[in-house]
Amino acid sequence: MAEMHDHALLLRRIPYGDTSFICHFLTEHNGRVSLMARGARRPKSAFRASLESLHALEIVWRSGRSGMGTLTDVQRGPAYLNLSESMHGLELLAIASRLFQEGDPHGFEELVTSLHKLADRQQQGLLVAVWHLLDSAGWLGDLSHCWQCGSSDEQAMYWKQAQLLCSSCGGGMPVSVGLRKSIVTVLSGQQVRFSIADTNAWRDMIRQVLMRHDIRLTDSFKSERL
Ligand SMILES: [Zn+2]
Repeated sequence: MAEMHDHALLLRRIPYGDTSFICHFLTEHNGRVSLMARGARRPKSAFRASLESLHALEIVWRSGRSGMGTLTDVQRGPAYLNLSESMHGLELLAIASRLFQEGDPHGFEELVTSLHKLADRQQQGLLVAVWHLLDSAGWLGDLSHCWQCGSSDEQAMYWKQAQLLCSSCGGGMPVSVGLRKSIVTVLSGQQVRFSIADTNAWRDMIRQVLMRHDIRLTDSFKSERL
């Protein structure tokens, strides 16, 4: 059986039997793969220290003749985030885990870029990173046009059923010109000072997208307000 190797991010690991894990990875060249890490929960397993989420991993595996492949080696590289950002990092992984399913060749680059955005930004980091992920999965449009009719000269636009709409296409939660500008600017990599109201509104917009696509809300998106 062919031996494969790739750069990978660990999405989840699920206990299997008494001593093993089933690990879900997003890989750079092979998309999402599930692999059996035999004995990984044994105290002396070489996998124990290496199978960490939010780290750059290099994995080696044997593909299964039919069904799941077997993990044979993991080398752990540097962490993508410092410790204070790891909670938000885990939320990103949970969302990415729903966005990119097995057989989908995408996900690795998108998630790595999001993790970098989370690491770079002082404020709004999680919102920027999640927005990037959702956008890369094709669930968002640009913020200068109504997503229904394409009209662009509206001052007041609205967020309804996870879409940006003009007043003729339907009302909903108002999205001010200022908020749209702020989001576009912060996504472009510049620092923007968000008001609390704008932060909450942006998080509401993202929450609606997650709910519309049946993604379980992570802690940062559960509460109504900060
Ligand atoms: Zn419209």
